[in-house]
Amino acid sequence: MRRQLIDFLSNIPFVNNYFSGIATIFMLHRVAPFEKGGLFPNENMKVSPEFLEGFILELRGNGYEFISLDELYDILQNQDDVSKKILFTLDDGYKDNYEIAYPIFKKYNVPFAVYVTTSFPKKSALLWWYQLEDLIIGNDELVVGEKSFICKSYEEKNKVFLDVRDKILNLNQRFLLKELNVLFENYKIDWLSKNRELCMSWKDIVELSRDKLCTIAGHTKSHYVFNKLERDEIEREVIDANKEIEKEIGKRIEHFAYPFGSANEVGKDESEIVKELNFKTVTTARSGNIYLNHKQFTNCCLPRVMLSNSFRLESIGRIRKKRVVAL
Ligand SMILES: [Zn+2]
Repeated sequence: MRRQLIDFLSNIPFVNNYFSGIATIFMLHRVAPFEKGGLFPNENMKVSPEFLEGFILELRGNGYEFISLDELYDILQNQDDVSKKILFTLDDGYKDNYEIAYPIFKKYNVPFAVYVTTSFPKKSALLWWYQLEDLIIGNDELVVGEKSFICKSYEEKNKVFLDVRDKILNLNQRFLLKELNVLFENYKIDWLSKNRELCMSWKDIVELSRDKLCTIAGHTKSHYVFNKLERDEIEREVIDANKEIEKEIGKRIEHFAYPFGSANEVGKDESEIVKELNFKTVTTARSGNIYLNHKQFTNCCLPRVMLSNSFRLESIGRIRKKRVVAL
């Protein structure tokens, strides 16, 4: 009975805590039009430009305010009693962040952060998920290692993509290029060929960094899974990448996001290592809103909320309601 009463009350809009917490950090990867026939796992990394623009207007119309990572850091340090703050963060360094997302953020004067993996502007990123997509779309059957996969229908193609993706994620990431070539020995694939089309250049990144709206932040050299690395490897991945970005943009890197960043790749041990690197803020891919209690987790594990075209503003208040998500 009590449970029913609580459920009933929480469904009445004015009783429901519409926006739990003080802020939401949205996690995006790409802002680009959807591609016809594109496979779901890749397309799901995008929001469309129209969606982003509409969402910014909807947030603004409902009294939300856009802030930067530096401002969030100050709010948590000072324990300012604020609410309805929104942050946009984009991971990895895709070219559309510069070409499509930036003009939208600029138009509405919205701060945003880009977490740069340095292999992207260096054009040495292994964007195997796009080569795999092309391969699956272009073939009715795929031979990967010892196994043959039938991928005729769109449903089959999506399923095969996920199966092969699992295989690739289990390869030794330190020797990924070599291991990919062994796994796909039946095909001639230039694993670096997508870099030019999909990754931001240093020139793009430098230009973004000169705009006060944009915070350039760290996201490692190679986007490895942290809990598969040793302590010194994690430190090198983070520190070397930041030094390289700092050299290019002439500014200090004070914010960081874990590669992947879910509970499967980052735990307490890894967060302790990153804590010692003294960032102002560090974000994960764990799902949750920000509360004032997150002060103690600012430099190791602030949760975010993944943004996709299916996201609805009403959901903000329902995300792990009143629960402080850390690690
Ligand atoms: Zn990433």
